[in-house]
Amino acid sequence: MKIELLPALNDNYIFILIDEFKQEAAVIDPAEADPVLAYLKNENLILTKIFNTHHHADHIGGNKKLSKYFPDVEIYASANDSGRIGKQDYFLKHGDKIQFANEVALVYFVPGHTIGHICYHFSLKSGENHLFIGDTIFSGGCGKIFEGTFEQMFSSLKFIRDNIPDYTYIWCAHEYTLENYLILEQLEPDNLKIKNKIHELYVLKQKQLPSIPFQLSDEKNVSSFLRWDDPELRKVLSTKDDLETFIAVRKYRDNPPKIKIPF
Ligand SMILES: [Zn+2]
Repeated sequence: MKIELLPALNDNYIFILIDEFKQEAAVIDPAEADPVLAYLKNENLILTKIFNTHHHADHIGGNKKLSKYFPDVEIYASANDSGRIGKQDYFLKHGDKIQFANEVALVYFVPGHTIGHICYHFSLKSGENHLFIGDTIFSGGCGKIFEGTFEQMFSSLKFIRDNIPDYTYIWCAHEYTLENYLILEQLEPDNLKIKNKIHELYVLKQKQLPSIPFQLSDEKNVSSFLRWDDPELRKVLSTKDDLETFIAVRKYRDNPPKIKIPF
């Protein structure tokens, strides 16, 4: 299975999974249809499956047009998003398995950003792990808590931190990484890992390369959003426990200091 990343809208990414033997494709969170259609046409691929992580328009916006062009396409989404995603064929719950290109992905329920949010974890036969996380984790961030609670988002992040292999590639749906880390640098000005990360991100930006996918191990090591038990971070925030620390980071990010992105 090959994975392609297509930029869409302002800062979204759409992910295409490709079955090279059957010349078939699946798409994860088509924010819009046109870039997907152009890619499929160019590569001579048939779209057979759409996997949605949650119901927001910048994740399902292309569903309708894509299913018009490919009437047999199957739409997979969360059981908790029933009625919020048009033409949904499969209603997924935590622990369900989906298949594409002779590979299997486990579905995890990760509410917080929305109350129906799910993600897809492919453990490929090659040994690679890929987690399509939607808007639950960003590099240097996590999704805004629109429908769920801080507690729900915290347990979703904790589930991922505790259960997904460190070497997993995380594919999130937005390019927010540099902005996120510039803000975290303000929160933790003495954190050298964050400064190094920003340096890496400048290099990527200069080369106009995406910061996605990223490795879960790097994120666990650097992002303030996944370091709720780090004494250094707790000292900065004057917090005592894991949940309180996570909430303080999320609230800091909700009202961030002004930063300058130098490109
Ligand atoms: Zn969203």
